Amino acid sequence: MHKKFDLITIGAGSGGIATANKASQLGARCAVIEANQIGGTCVNVGCVPKKIMWLASGTASALQEAQGYGFAPQAAITLDWKQLVTKRQAYIQRLHTGYADRLAKNQVTMIWGKARFISNNTLQVGNDTYEASHIVIASGGKPSIPKIEGAALGIDSDGFFALDTKPTRVAIIGAGYISVELAGMLHAFGCQTTLVFRRMKILREFDPLLSEHLMNSYQQQGIVLKAGHIPIKLEKNADGLSLFCENQPTLSHFDTVIWAIGRTPNTDNLALDAAGVITHQNGTIKVDELQNTNVKGIYAIGDVTGQKELTPVAIAAGRRLASRLFANISDSKLNYENIPTVVFSHPPIGTVGLSEPEAKEKYGEDLKIYQTIFTPMSQALLSHPQKTAMKLITIQSSGKVVGCHIFGEGADEMLQGFALAIKMGATKADFDNVVAIHPTSAEELVTLV
Ligand code: FAD
Ligand code: NDP
Repeated sequence: MHKKFDLITIGAGSGGIATANKASQLGARCAVIEANQIGGTCVNVGCVPKKIMWLASGTASALQEAQGYGFAPQAAITLDWKQLVTKRQAYIQRLHTGYADRLAKNQVTMIWGKARFISNNTLQVGNDTYEASHIVIASGGKPSIPKIEGAALGIDSDGFFALDTKPTRVAIIGAGYISVELAGMLHAFGCQTTLVFRRMKILREFDPLLSEHLMNSYQQQGIVLKAGHIPIKLEKNADGLSLFCENQPTLSHFDTVIWAIGRTPNTDNLALDAAGVITHQNGTIKVDELQNTNVKGIYAIGDVTGQKELTPVAIAAGRRLASRLFANISDSKLNYENIPTVVFSHPPIGTVGLSEPEAKEKYGEDLKIYQTIFTPMSQALLSHPQKTAMKLITIQSSGKVVGCHIFGEGADEMLQGFALAIKMGATKADFDNVVAIHPTSAEELVTLV
């Protein structure tokens, strides 16, 4: 069978679905090709199951802290991990139905199977071929596994979501989003948790305030931090899993080891050569600011481009691309500046704009930094209160706010509105002009001196 469309997306993840829905609403005949599950990484093995586990682990912490508010000590309330996973997966199933219904409503054709290029405008899926004037590569990525002996004894974030029992002693290797999110939640669930990273810091590329506070907090909570550990071998013996690292004592007795060292783009399965699409050395697809690849009529969006690997970014880039192609808005494109992001650590981190080192590089000494560290009211009665820390980075001469960094309870829900203000070019005077909401943590950001 050979079929023709105006636009085909490779991948029914965040980016592919958003692009096809939007293009279809603009009158294009669209298809989405998916090799695995509808919803892609975010829905199946990313944001959605992660957030549910994070919410559950937050509930575990709240139960432990209830005595701080005068609740009588309870006999241990245990977590039924299997039930949690079953309910989580049922929720994801409902999302699948919602996504499929929406595509159908927009008359997007869903094609199941693995797509590969056979020319610059034709894809093959099984024995069928599909032709389109516009092909959008939105094939995402998969967890990277180090090429060291025994690496396969560990699992990755996909494997974490597949666990049907709660691990007991866990090592997580990595220093980015996934490692710190998994470490925080596993610790809150009562697992003995060790976070192993090869340099001296976690979240090294975030503002130092965030990185330092998270490291201190994790240490205080009892998460074991192993800095300067470069893994060279993973081994299974009678005592469990042992992790060998360069010039460091062996870390042993783990039942679960999780690799969280970044992701690899899904480009090796696309036969890109048949279309002539060029990638970077790490496999991510080269695109310009309009998401064009080097081949006319072929575009790439989302994680496969290695640009900010976040769901709303893939969606926004895809929708803008659809508007450019089918609503004749020739400059419709995503501005990658000031993209807010939250790390669902315990407590969470919210950050938008430049870190202090980035701001210094860009503006030199023309900066004024405002910072505060305090105990939020929600923590004040607890035996081990967690601090909140905030930083605003402003340009001294104009007052413009160029960075906002929040560590602490509520940071996840606090950031979106501040990101809007910063995207609109707010100054410190604008922040000062807002009447505070009391008593909240967020008010500290509009009362900084
Ligand atoms: P994907 O969602 O990965 O979709 C790509 C799809 O393409 C997949 O379904 C895949 O099966 C399919 N595919 C691949 N090759 C082919 C082929 N040859 N033929 C057909 N189909 C193919 N982001 C956030 O914003 N917030 C979060 O809290 C968050 N948490 C995360 C937690 C984890 C553990 C992970 C791993 C990621 C998280 N992310 C989060 C990142 C987010 O999931 C991704 O940025 C987002 O899913 C990228 O969307 P995409 O459309 O580019 O790719
Ligand atoms: P990240 O890129 O965030 O972090 C991976 C880190 O692991 C690197 O920064 C690096 O840190 C370290 N690392 C890399 N290679 C090795 C190695 N061989 N051995 C040991 N350590 C290594 O990747 P993640 O896998 O955590 O997450 C992937 C992406 O998914 C994120 O970048 C993010 O965009 C997205 N995501 C978003 C979330 C959210 O929005 N809340 C949650 C989860 C994921 P260093 O260089 O310091 O050693």
